[in-house]
Amino acid sequence: MSTVPLTVGDLQAAIRNVPDFPKLGIQFKDITPMLADARLFAGSIDLLTAGLEPGSVDSVVGIDARGFIFAAAAAVKLRAGFVPVRKQGKLPYQTIEQTYDLEYGTSTVAIHVDALKPGARVLLMDDLLATGGTAGAAVELVRKVGGQILQVSFLIELSFLNGREKLKGCPVRSLVVY
Ligand code: AMP
Repeated sequence: MSTVPLTVGDLQAAIRNVPDFPKLGIQFKDITPMLADARLFAGSIDLLTAGLEPGSVDSVVGIDARGFIFAAAAAVKLRAGFVPVRKQGKLPYQTIEQTYDLEYGTSTVAIHVDALKPGARVLLMDDLLATGGTAGAAVELVRKVGGQILQVSFLIELSFLNGREKLKGCPVRSLVVY
């Protein structure tokens, strides 16, 4: 494997833009070419967790579904536990739910009531920050079950949608910014 340091530009070059998916007007950021490349996938995890030492995070919380990919890999690297935030109705045990606004309608995400230890230091991860509704709801869930957010990390940020506004008070890291 190459030892040339990886850059955010390398990651960006492997993210495919798919116009009008899943519906007209959406520019879907397809990360599967980046994930399929061993050097890029490992490098993305290194960049997303840079500055965080193993032992400094108790739980990495991943958001359904692409957030799981990054959160699980980061959890192994940081020797932390992995915790899923899932769409409503998917988690089997008792949950706490949080509803947030979409462009049309609402959506609801959930976490197990006992997912985090009191005061757990949490790294929250998703693939992409758009309007911030999903990540904002996940931050609320983490806090409601007793966790403290150390950082929220995204591979991609669509900065023109101002999603960071919904994450006030949380340190946010994103790698590829459009
Ligand atoms: P939002 O709640 O608006 O910040 O949307 C973030 C969630 O929707 C993330 O879990 C993304 O996976 C997904 N998402 C939103 N917009 C896009 C896009 N243009 N391309 C790929 N995924 C997207």
